[in-house]
Amino acid sequence: MAIERIVDTSNHDEDTEEQIIEISLRPQSFAEYVGQERLKTNLKLAIDAAKKRDEPLDHILLYGPPGLGKTTMATVIAREMGSNIRVTAGPAIERAADLASILTSLTDGDILFIDEIHRLSRTVEEVLYAAMEDYKLDIMIGKGPGARSVRLDLPKFTVIGATTRTGALAAPLRDRFGHLYRLEFYEPEEISRIITRAASILGTGIDAPSAALLSTRARLTPRIANRLLKRVRDYADVNGDGIIDTAITSKALVLLEIDELGLDAGDRNLLVRMIDMYGTNPVGLTTLAALTGDEASTIEDFYEPYLLQVGLLERTPRGRRATPRAFTHLNKTPIENE
Ligand code: ADP
Repeated sequence: MAIERIVDTSNHDEDTEEQIIEISLRPQSFAEYVGQERLKTNLKLAIDAAKKRDEPLDHILLYGPPGLGKTTMATVIAREMGSNIRVTAGPAIERAADLASILTSLTDGDILFIDEIHRLSRTVEEVLYAAMEDYKLDIMIGKGPGARSVRLDLPKFTVIGATTRTGALAAPLRDRFGHLYRLEFYEPEEISRIITRAASILGTGIDAPSAALLSTRARLTPRIANRLLKRVRDYADVNGDGIIDTAITSKALVLLEIDELGLDAGDRNLLVRMIDMYGTNPVGLTTLAALTGDEASTIEDFYEPYLLQVGLLERTPRGRRATPRAFTHLNKTPIENE
């Protein structure tokens, strides 16, 4: 189902203007990075200790649903360390040779950020964890009987990996990370602060009640908060004088079909189908994916974390199940159908 969703947490920006805005909205320091207090405290400590010992940071794995600020945090860490950051992603490193060329181009203290690190191939993963372990790279030179293995010294670099699922990472790779942190959904009050900050960077006036209203619709996710703000700003520019007040916000939200819990038509479709076909019974992941025409990974990464967080879905050993709250939210009557 290829409909564009405003609540889509994936990071495909529609055009260059969006990309430029996205970059300027990205917090540059711990002070600008709203929320995730526990994570910030731990990271600040690790950074101070590494600086004091004049050593590179230990490798860091950040995990959690998309759009919560993993990439942003990696850039903040690099800035606070005074390090260069090289940004890549699991699917972009297809062969061991691709990784070797990245690793050999680094210098001491550099940070290598690998987004979607769970999507690295097994062969690349093996090269990576050996390099992370002892900063050495074994490469084969030549082919056939004359081939020989050469061991190269690598600079002392730090990997920051980001993943939506730690379970999908091979244990030996996971074990190479000295720090593993989970990013949590944000509090509405934090989302409200993120919206107010973004509005001021964009030069748009927004009153406090409107920021609070938007913060309840943004799935507790900064990326969606920024995207919603931009759409409401469009609405205010076209239908008002550019100032975002609650009347404008409410009307824009109706137009965008985002309900009081931040669900869009896609989420409601998923829940309605589950309820209509399975009632209160659990449904397996592949069946759910078939119901909506999405990939199972899309259900796991994009729909499910927030629906679980707000208590509309629950996980049981036999699959996912719509909760009583989901029935109430969608005006459905629970019927026990065994
Ligand atoms: P992830 O890598 O987890 O998918 P990103 O780091 O790309 O998420 O964050 C998405 C966007 O949300 C960023 O461009 C940034 O503007 C905004 N953002 C993320 N975290 C925060 C935060 N803690 N404070 C303010 N804005 C944030």
